[in-house]
Amino acid sequence: MTRVLNFSAGPSQLPLTVVQKAAAQLLEYGTSGQSVMEMSHRSSTFLEIVRETERRLRSLLQIPQNYRVLFLQGGASLQFSMVPMNLLKPKGKAGIIHTGTWTKKAIEECRKFGECVVLASGEADHFHSIPKDVIVPQDLDYVYLCENNTIIGTKYKTLPECGHVPLVADCSSCILSEPMDVSRYGLIFAGAQKNMGIAGLTVVIVRDDLIEERPELPSMMSYAVQVKHESMFNTPPTFAIYMLGLVLEWIETEFQDLKALQSYNQRKVALLYDYLDSSALFKNEVKKEDRSMMNVPFMTDDPQLDAKFIAYAQAEGLVNLKGHRSVGGMRASIYNGMPMEGVEKLVEVMKRFEEAQA
Ligand code: PMP
Repeated sequence: MTRVLNFSAGPSQLPLTVVQKAAAQLLEYGTSGQSVMEMSHRSSTFLEIVRETERRLRSLLQIPQNYRVLFLQGGASLQFSMVPMNLLKPKGKAGIIHTGTWTKKAIEECRKFGECVVLASGEADHFHSIPKDVIVPQDLDYVYLCENNTIIGTKYKTLPECGHVPLVADCSSCILSEPMDVSRYGLIFAGAQKNMGIAGLTVVIVRDDLIEERPELPSMMSYAVQVKHESMFNTPPTFAIYMLGLVLEWIETEFQDLKALQSYNQRKVALLYDYLDSSALFKNEVKKEDRSMMNVPFMTDDPQLDAKFIAYAQAEGLVNLKGHRSVGGMRASIYNGMPMEGVEKLVEVMKRFEEAQA
C-alpha cells in the first residue's frame, strides 16, 4: 500500500507509527484478550488508558493543578453551545473576537443563550488578519476567540489582555502544535481530529473556578456534571481517547516536549511560505505576522488553474488540497502528523507545476 500525503483540514494524517501501533494492538490490547474497541469503559484496563492519557496531556501542555481535563463528544461545535450555557451568568454577556467561519458559528450559538458582544472583527479585511489591541470590558462573563482559524489560515501570536475576564479559546486546529501558557486561559477546547488523533473526541481544559453547578442544564452539557463523573457520565469515546494517548506518546518519544515539536512545525511550514512568497503563480493572502503554522491557504489568480493544480497534485499522491468551499483555491493543512518530507514533496510539485505554466 502507498500511503497518500493527506493535507486535509481534519480528520487528518496521523503519524505513521501511531497508526502502526494501533494496528498492532487492534486485535488485542496488551494481554487483555480483547481490543480497546470492545473494552468496558469502567474496566481497570481502560481506566488506566484514560489516566495515562490525561497524565501525558497534562505533562506536555503543563496544565496547572487547578484545571480539569474533560474528554467529551459532540465535536468542537458542541462547545459553541456548552460554553455560553455554562459560563454566561443570568443577564450576563460574552465578548467575542470575530475572525471567520468558526467564530461566526460560536456567535450564533452564544446568542441563543444570552448577549454576545462582538469586541472586534476581521471581516472588513476578509479575515486576512487578526484584530489587535482589543479592549476587553471588565463586565463580561468571558472573552471568546478562535486561536487558529482553520479555513482562512490566521493565528493569534499574542493573546489579548483580558484583565479579570476569563479567556475561552477554540484551539481545535493548533492545540499541541506548540507550547501554550494554559494559565492565561479560563477554558480551552479542541476537537481531536487534527493534531490530537481521530474524530469523536473533544478535549476541554477548564479552570476550577469556572465550573459551576447548573442544575437547569441537560446533564450531558454541564461541565460540573462531566467533571464530577470524570468524563464518564455516559460512555466516553473510548477508542478516540486511546488514540489520543498514542499521539501523546509519539510526541514524547519523537520530540520530548512541545518546544521541540514547535520548532519542527515552524521549519516545515517555512518551506511552504518561503516558496509561496517567491512564487509568481501562487499566493497566500494572509497578513504575514498573522499566518497560521497549521493551515496554509493559497491560490493562483485563476480558479480553473487552481482546479488543474489540485488534480495534478492528486495524481502525485497529494490529496485534500482543495480550499474550503467558502473561500476556494487550495489549502494545505500541515498538522503534527505531516512529516517534513510531505511538505518538501508539496513544494516540489508546486514548483514543477509553476514551471510547466511558464
Ligand atoms: N473550530 C475550528 C477552529 C475548526 O477548525 C473546526 C472544524 N474544522 C471546528 C471548530 C468544528 O469542529 P467539529 O467538526 O469537531 O465540531
